[in-house]
Amino acid sequence: ERLTREVDSEKLRPRPPVVTIMGHVDHGKTSLLDKIRRSNVAAGEVGGITQVIRAWSVTHKIEDPETGEKVIERPITFLDTPGHEAFTKMRARGANVTDIAVIVVAATDGVMPQTEEAVAHARAADVRIIVAINKVDAPNANVDRTRRQLYNLELLPDDMGGDIQFVETSALTGQGIDDLLNAILIEAEINLADDLQADPDRPAFGTCLEAYMTSDEGVMATVLVQQGTLKLGDIVLCGANFGRVRSMQNDLGLSIEEAGPSTPVLITGLGGVPNADDPFYAVDELTTAAKIAEAREKKDREASLNRFTA
Ligand code: GDP
Repeated sequence: ERLTREVDSEKLRPRPPVVTIMGHVDHGKTSLLDKIRRSNVAAGEVGGITQVIRAWSVTHKIEDPETGEKVIERPITFLDTPGHEAFTKMRARGANVTDIAVIVVAATDGVMPQTEEAVAHARAADVRIIVAINKVDAPNANVDRTRRQLYNLELLPDDMGGDIQFVETSALTGQGIDDLLNAILIEAEINLADDLQADPDRPAFGTCLEAYMTSDEGVMATVLVQQGTLKLGDIVLCGANFGRVRSMQNDLGLSIEEAGPSTPVLITGLGGVPNADDPFYAVDELTTAAKIAEAREKKDREASLNRFTA
């Protein structure tokens, strides 16, 4: 059986953009993600937010370009990636999980080494960049200096002849969070419409984002569905592991029965712990999954044996 990534172009439908926030340490990545998430959850739920998985979706309303009213509601998926290296490693293995990279730069510090690194990683991965100049509330914020430094990295906003969206934010006060979400949806609409397509009808495939062993539930894996729809009971091959999806939770920890494109879900049922960048495929036959998994395991074993004897 083929593990195909082919999709039927006739069946393509729009899918939400998948966004990663990158930047120098302490520039506000975690705070921004937190603010975005909290701004989107009903007030009553806020106290109860437990981060079940490091990937989640929000919905944001933007103005309908036709009527100018705030009526279109669109989902956005955020990935809380473990770091720049993981991002590049995933990319190197062909797991292009991100559509948009938000580069966060604190206006207090300006461009720092890891800012440059983040920009380089985003460019290497060929993802669209949005710049968030954060901490604009701080007394020592210097937005102009930060903009000049970004200019030197050839990140140009449209009023300077470029096509990068710049947003000024404060993860502390919430200023600009709405603008950032608008910018993401505008980017998706204008520059990524052709890429943000998926066939929800085919068997699911995607990428494992994180996986670990638990004593009560066995292997728990957070996967991002990229094409197709993953369903409870599906036979899944993930790296050198396989199993039947026994349970599936969404980002709020609620049990769900299926998950479509750009949806991160926590699944149980795999027989072993996959790597945090292994592709996964829903396959028809348990025997097929077992055969491929076994072949891969053998290959992995031989590779590590060769390393050992070399
Ligand atoms: P990360 O390392 O990039 O994830 O940065 P954090 O989100 O952990 O933020 C680092 C520090 O900066 C924390 O003490 C935050 O409270 C603070 N911080 C984050 N965003 C802002 C902001 O917009 N304004 C101000 N004044 N402080 C912020």
